Amino acid sequence: MIIAGGKPIKEILAMIDAYDKIIVAGCKGCVTVCSAGGEKEVGILSSALRLARQTQGRSLEIKEVTLERQCDPEYLEPMREYADQYPAILSLACGAGIQFVAEKFRKHPVLPGVNTQFIGVTEEQGVWTERCQSCGNCVLDRTGGICPVARCSKSLFNGPCGGSKGGKCEIDSQVDCGWQLIYERLQELGQLEKLEIVLPVKDWSTSRDGGPRKRIREDLKI
Ligand code: SF4
Ligand code: SF4
Repeated sequence: MIIAGGKPIKEILAMIDAYDKIIVAGCKGCVTVCSAGGEKEVGILSSALRLARQTQGRSLEIKEVTLERQCDPEYLEPMREYADQYPAILSLACGAGIQFVAEKFRKHPVLPGVNTQFIGVTEEQGVWTERCQSCGNCVLDRTGGICPVARCSKSLFNGPCGGSKGGKCEIDSQVDCGWQLIYERLQELGQLEKLEIVLPVKDWSTSRDGGPRKRIREDLKI
């Protein structure tokens, strides 16, 4: 899922300074799972914003809403009923959701209420870690199911850089060396011979280097 974290309230207050009425829009997708922008966070943030405004001697009217998803057009439509009564929307969705709301609600400034970080997993309650950088050409079959793009700090494709110590990456002693993990997993699987396969120079045009990407499924189009 997409992992995000709340923006500092001071930053949000500065963004909404020009408005006395706003919609605070959460999303029931990934940002709910990673406790950044779901219904609960909409409520907590809205209360904090109201309180902060009160201490400034100013009012703030907030319409609290949590949409099923902000990255799908059908779930945005219900917001049209009341959107015109509010001059700005503070979205707690991921960056994709925020941009999609901005595309569909063109009269409104749409402001980011969270910082979107990475595609990751819940390792344990309250701990999320990165797993994939959506490179568009997955090699996990050759690397024991551990991503060399996301898990090696240098995104190396053919083994470690030589800087790891005690299984930790040289960029930070708290970070596992991605290639150590790949080695250990291949050993566990009895597939160490896979390390001898030289992965070709990666074609990054399927990744961000190729510009904004698009996926079309003609069979699903109406
Ligand atoms: S190889 Fe690419 S698609 Fe596969 S997990 Fe890594 S970044 Fe994601
Ligand atoms: S120490 Fe390991 S994870 Fe860090 S950059 Fe080198 S190979 Fe990659």
